Order: sequence, then C-alpha cells, then structure tokens
Amino acid sequence: MDGATDSLTRTVNVILLGPPGAGKGTQAEILVKDLGMVQLSTGDMLREAKDSGTEMGKRVAEVMARGELVTDEIVIGLIEEKLTSVKANGFIFDGFPRTLAQADALNALLEKTGQTLDVVIELQVNDEILVERIVGRAEQAKAAGKPVRADDNEESLKFRLMEYYKKTAPLIGYYHAKGNLQHVDAMGAIDSIAGDLSAIVKTATA
Ligand code: ADP
Repeated sequence: MDGATDSLTRTVNVILLGPPGAGKGTQAEILVKDLGMVQLSTGDMLREAKDSGTEMGKRVAEVMARGELVTDEIVIGLIEEKLTSVKANGFIFDGFPRTLAQADALNALLEKTGQTLDVVIELQVNDEILVERIVGRAEQAKAAGKPVRADDNEESLKFRLMEYYKKTAPLIGYYHAKGNLQHVDAMGAIDSIAGDLSAIVKTATA
C-alpha cells in the first residue's frame, strides 16, 4: 500500500527487539515504506562510522567484527544525536537498546525530547533459523559480488547470540514489567510478519 494513504494517526515510537538474524532491519524498512516512520539502526550507524574512517569508527570496527557489543556510551551518543536533530512521525529503534543501561538512557532521552515509548515488539525466532539466515545472507552477498559483513561468520555469530542472551534478552522482562511488550512470531513469511507488526503499530496509535 502507498505510504501516503496508509499513514499513522499520531506519532508512535517503536522498539524492535530480537536476536541477530530475527529480521529487525528487514521489517523496519517495510514500516518505513508503509507507514512513513524513521528507522534508527545503531548497527547501520556504526557501520557508517566505520566506513567513514573516523577515530570512533576505527575503534568500533574490531569490536563489531568479533560480535561483541560496542560501549553503551558510543551508541547512546549516536541515538541522542538523531533524537535531537531528526523530526519524524515515529521512530523505529532497530538494534537499540541492547543493554539495560541503554534502555534507561533511551527513557531519559525520550523524556527530554518530550516523546513517549509506545510499544516494544519482540521478534521471536529459534536459534537454528537464525544461524541459517545469517549464513545464507553471507553466501548471497558473496555470490552477488557484494561485501560480506565482517561479523556474518559462524564464530562471530556465536558471540553475537551469546551477547544477545546475556545482555539484551533481559530487556524482554524489563519492558514486560513496564507493560510495553508485544510478541510476533518471526519465523514465517516476510509479508505476513510485516502485516502483524503493522497491525500492532497502528493499534498503538489508536
Ligand atoms: P545484528 O542484529 O544482525 O547482529 P546489527 O547491525 O544490529 O546486527 O549490529 C551489528 C553489531 O553492531 C553488533 O554485533 C554490535 O557489535 C554493534 N551494535 C549495534 N547496535 C548496538 C548497540 N545498541 N549496542 C552495542 N553494540 C551495538
């Protein structure tokens, strides 16, 4: 459907939560196209910083390649910069927050900028599918002659999953306790998952 005819009735801020390979980026792009929201992907911002060759970019590149999390200070700074400079009818946080400290910082930033967090959607996928998707993504990129992400290999992926379960999964309980949490089965077809997400986002604006 055309974004202009399917727009939101009010501003809505959404977090997509889920392990690496759950499809957060893919789904965020669809919400951008269909609902005119703005995607804030800390992974993309960090890859841009890395490509720009800045000091910060160089520091984070190695950490990311190993599949470890970048420091809270760096990612919170990136998000703060966007939240204070970009106007949107809704943000989709993709890959942020990833720690409890980041979640607390996001609350404070939203409050400071006069915004609310409306809904946190957990994309649920089992581990075997995650590994298949990420290994498949690397193979496809390679076959198409495109660059393969430095962290899309089995060793870094194992680390990314460990980091997720240790540091990010606790956010599920955190947002459940706040009454913000919704779940989506993210193992089906992209379009059907997108339909579920879009329905949740629209309900949140009602
Ligand atoms: P995926 O979810 O597929 O692992 P992302 O593009 O979201 O991919 O993240 C890639 C890497 O970027 C992470 O493994 C981590 O090193 C870094 N990163 C992204 N977002 C954050 C964050 N909020 N906090 C710390 N590190 C982050």
